[in-house]
Amino acid sequence: MSTTAPQQSPGTHLDRLDGFVPADAAGVVIVDLDALAGNWRALRDLVAPAACAAVVKANGYGLGADRVIPALCAAGADTFFVATLAEARQARALVADATATVYVLDGVLPGSGQALHDAGAIPVISSLPEAKEWAALAPSRNEPMACAFHVDSGLNRLGLSAREIRALASDMHTMDRVQVRLVMSHLACADDPGHEKNTQQLDVFRTLQPLLPSAPLSIAASDGLMLGPDYHLDLVRPGYALYGGQALPGRITPVKPVVEAYARVLQIRELAPGQSVGYSASFVANRITRVAVIAAGYGDGLPRHLSAATGQTAGHVAFGGRRAPIVGRVSMDLITVDITDLEGHAPDRGDWAELIGQSISLEDVGAACGTIGYEILTRLSPRFARVYLGGGDGTGTQGT
Ligand SMILES: *Cc1c(COP(=O)(O)O)cnc(C)c1O
Repeated sequence: MSTTAPQQSPGTHLDRLDGFVPADAAGVVIVDLDALAGNWRALRDLVAPAACAAVVKANGYGLGADRVIPALCAAGADTFFVATLAEARQARALVADATATVYVLDGVLPGSGQALHDAGAIPVISSLPEAKEWAALAPSRNEPMACAFHVDSGLNRLGLSAREIRALASDMHTMDRVQVRLVMSHLACADDPGHEKNTQQLDVFRTLQPLLPSAPLSIAASDGLMLGPDYHLDLVRPGYALYGGQALPGRITPVKPVVEAYARVLQIRELAPGQSVGYSASFVANRITRVAVIAAGYGDGLPRHLSAATGQTAGHVAFGGRRAPIVGRVSMDLITVDITDLEGHAPDRGDWAELIGQSISLEDVGAACGTIGYEILTRLSPRFARVYLGGGDGTGTQGT
């Protein structure tokens, strides 16, 4: 279920959503498409003269590729990265501009080359067999197959090794039948600016890249682009930062939050000292404790590791800017939070608890349960109603 609200506004959007959040929604994710568009433009300006792509894999980081991609197009993005062929088909259908590029990070799965080609997508090739399979689809030397090459500079995940690059470079049958649009690599430790691996990987990339045909170069994602101009090369590939994420601890990426999530208070109850709350009775009240029962749980994407047993603190929600700790286990559909200390800000039945927003960032939620904001973002489940603000084109409205 998704709706479009009429107006964008800074700060918290919840108070402006009367009539737009479905009355029966237990939880809602609000996606500010104008903030998303603004973030892409801010990063574009930050890295100029390098170009700025947009990474929209995993359904636009969970926010809805069908809304995210058109908003980024309206902002001016024309180069997109997805992970899979299915995502590429969807992206291709959503980008109006036929000249826009859709790269597939997974590359050519065995036997999928023709389908990838038919989808109008360009594979990011990470191995010799992939390169051969892709080149074999070229009808002739005069009609080479467009591709990107992924160089492994030390992440040891996807990418061509130095040995494979040398073998490829001397394989003229293959090289004559591909047209290299981009040569890229990916950093392992870009979220740690002082890490020696950053400069090492840049050096390895600069050494290996000349063995391949000359093409625009790219190494930085959201965190890497904050390491400075040395890492911008010709193209940067942010994902998380577009969606408001702060990928680099200690350095502020100039982006605005895009996502807020709220869920309803279903009930308020009072525990006497010695009473427990939730599964396994993991939290036992040591005082008279007021508890709000909230309609969101791990079935909505809130990790169960946000649970807090007696004496522990893990996840929080917020009411009117005041944080309240989760107590007891996160269950599939519910969390329980201690609102005893909220005094004047205590919620009533039907009020909205902030799960992600002005008081609780994506990074806060990730840190509270031993993961990263990325995982929280991409796992927000479809059970939350989605409300989209703005259209990414600066006009502030867009119909569904
Ligand atoms: C996911 C991904 C990105 C985007 O990363 P963010 O940290 O979300 O900006 C860029 N490049 C590659 C190869 C990726 O897999």
